[in-house]
Order: sequence, then C-alpha cells, then structure tokens
Amino acid sequence: MGLKRITLITLGYFEREILKNVAALVENELKGRVDSKMEHYDLESHFDPVRKQYNGNTLLKYVEANLAYDDRKTIALVAVDLYIPILTYIFGQAYLNGSSGIASLYRLGNERYGLPRDEALLNSRFAKEIIHELGHCFGLIHCHTFDCVMKVSTYVEDIDQKSTSFCSKCRQQLEQDGHL
Ligand SMILES: [Zn+2]
Ligand SMILES: [Zn+2]
Repeated sequence: MGLKRITLITLGYFEREILKNVAALVENELKGRVDSKMEHYDLESHFDPVRKQYNGNTLLKYVEANLAYDDRKTIALVAVDLYIPILTYIFGQAYLNGSSGIASLYRLGNERYGLPRDEALLNSRFAKEIIHELGHCFGLIHCHTFDCVMKVSTYVEDIDQKSTSFCSKCRQQLEQDGHL
C-alpha cells in the first residue's frame, strides 16, 4: 500500500519560495510523494468582517469538496489568519482519516512577535504544522510524546518544542494501517 501521494496547494496570496521550501521539508520527512501548486482562489467568501479573520471550517469544507481526491492527501496552505468559532485562532485543521486539511503560516513568523524575521524557523514551523495535519489525514490523533509532531500546539513555542517527526508509537500506527 504505502503512503498516498500528497498535494500542497496554496490558496490566495502566497510566497512561492515558502511553498518550495516547506514542500522540500515535508517531502524529506515523508519520503517523497509531494506535489505542490499555487491556485488562484479568492478567500473573500471565508472572511469574517467582525473578527477580521478567515473561517477555517468553511475553508476546509471548500477544500474537501473541490480540491481533494481519494487517491491522495491534500493540504491547502494560506497566508491569512484562520479561526474556528470556538477558538481565537487555529494554525490548521484536517479531517481525521480524511482526504484534506488546511494550514496557515500567518502566526508562525517571528516578526509577528516583535522578533527579527527568520526564514528557516518559519519554514520549519510551517512544515511541522503541515505534517501534523497530514498525520490527522492518515488517522492519527493528538499524541502526548513531548517531541512528536502530533503533539497539539497552541503557541509557536509549542511548535518549536516538537520535532518534524512522528514518534515511534505514531509511526507504528501508520505502519499498521499501511500508510508507511
Ligand atoms: Zn491536531
Ligand atoms: Zn506520537
């Protein structure tokens, strides 16, 4: 069986260089099989003018209905700030055992926290969040192992503490389910 192919697809304004870099990091962790593309898509229909953020639930539904295919896992990447009604913001979300997910880099840059821009750190954080959402697509739930990529992250500091890799327990489940 093996790992299904993965598509990373940017929606709305997005820096091509960042896509290229995170695709390479994801590919390295998941051993190939990553396609990437940039899609012209107006995110406006997901914008909430009161919160001044973009609705992660409607966006994920759009991705699942229009951009996802059964033979692959698709993660849509955006540069805008995402929220869901019960949370102030989200880095991303995905359907458990589903075909798609979404991830935002909006809150991952150092400059958002008054620190100098760090391209390598941004790419690393974003890759971890993308791999995390892919893990959900592959059926993994949140993990408590401190450095496992499936550990839940609320703040960027949480992302920095975990690695880009699945822990042995998560990896074992992926193997059992025929994903690796
Ligand atoms: Zn998660
Ligand atoms: Zn784990």
